[in-house]
Amino acid sequence: MNMQGLSHEELDSLQRQEALLWLTPAHDPADNGRDMPHDPAEAHARFDRCAGLLSRLFPELREAGGRLSSPLTPIPTLQRHLSPRGEPGALADGAWFLKRDDDLPVAGSVKARGGFHEALALAERLALEAGLLSPQGDRAALADPQARAWLGRHQMSVGSTGNLGLAIGLIGIGLGFQAVVHMSSDAKAWKKDRLRRRGITVVEHAGDYAAAVAAGRAAAQADPLAYFVDDERSEYLFLGYTTAARELLDQLQAAGRTVDADHPLFVYLPCGVGGAPGGIAYGLKRLLGPHVHCFFAEPTASPCMLVQLAADTLDPVPVHAVGLDNRTEADGLAVGEASPLVAPIMARLLAGVFTVQDDTLFRDALALEQAEGITIEPSAAAGLRGPRWLLGTARGRRYLQRHNLTPVAAQATHVIWSTGGSLVPEDIREGFRARGRALGTVG
Ligand SMILES: *Cc1c(COP(=O)(O)O)cnc(C)c1O
Repeated sequence: MNMQGLSHEELDSLQRQEALLWLTPAHDPADNGRDMPHDPAEAHARFDRCAGLLSRLFPELREAGGRLSSPLTPIPTLQRHLSPRGEPGALADGAWFLKRDDDLPVAGSVKARGGFHEALALAERLALEAGLLSPQGDRAALADPQARAWLGRHQMSVGSTGNLGLAIGLIGIGLGFQAVVHMSSDAKAWKKDRLRRRGITVVEHAGDYAAAVAAGRAAAQADPLAYFVDDERSEYLFLGYTTAARELLDQLQAAGRTVDADHPLFVYLPCGVGGAPGGIAYGLKRLLGPHVHCFFAEPTASPCMLVQLAADTLDPVPVHAVGLDNRTEADGLAVGEASPLVAPIMARLLAGVFTVQDDTLFRDALALEQAEGITIEPSAAAGLRGPRWLLGTARGRRYLQRHNLTPVAAQATHVIWSTGGSLVPEDIREGFRARGRALGTVG
């Protein structure tokens, strides 16, 4: 396999599953993605006209008027804790925030915006076709018994190792659909139990995430009343994710954090197939252009976006092609092949990718809990090392220099995207903590 975007040294580290920071060769900070066809305005408009509906159907969303949003929380104690040693300046001065998508209502993960957007698009289309809605205006009528009965004849299905299944299952059932989740047999038992308890059908498949997606796709194709949410190429999911950008910008403004040439924004996003982090990064680039720098975090065993972008081809390149096995504890990030929709979009917009070993995820999730009292799942901790890679390593500092960011680094805002965890049962959380404790403090 030709990995032209990787040096021999980098390829070596990658294959040995050492953590590394890789900078995207074709990255162009000035590119704002506005020449690309995907328009976040479409998703914003859909969420606007469906807010009344969501407020009617989901009690968790009532207080917020049917709006999905997650908190943005400063994490100063963790910032001190994870700052690189002997580098007091740059890190201590910038401001670190955690974007709490682990706390998103209904779904409990970053999947909520994408999942809601796709489910709403489907419900609108079916109801419009059946003459149950008028083309314009509010969607609250989708909560009426007649519309729900119609949607209830249809099935919404998805292939997922976990969180997307939880999101689509819970959102689908809430909107009135039948919901079917195809999972790999190694998906966590508590997720399957939770879905089944809510009346969602779980179908288990041997093999990994990709096998579950393929099986789910085939099953839905054979059924005219079934609709398959395709994590590997869904435009609706992608557009739903992009809406997080506007939300973040509003929150940064409210927190007094400017983003401009003198005040860069760095965002660190855990990446599985690439849809969620890709949509968020795309939305941010559209709004902020050269002033935002997005990095993905991937497990050392599953760096599928890194491998895809390094191979510089439109053909799919799985991590197996470089000898990696995609075996990681990082639920939701254990993806061996990047989204063919998202990877080409990221080629010029993404600043880079850093990889994280499983042990680090458990350590950092525990460190976050001890420092800030915030509990997330290990996968969601993947972004926490981002500022340290950028500011505390030679390669990261080279990135700052190359883009003339060194003089303004102390004024930077760092947003670490936390992606899941609020639905994790307490006994499972205790297991995560025990593993973090056994590993000792931050290495
Ligand atoms: C799904 C997921 C991600 C990444 O989203 P992708 O669209 O798969 O890249 C990150 N963290 C968690 C916890 C997830 O469940």
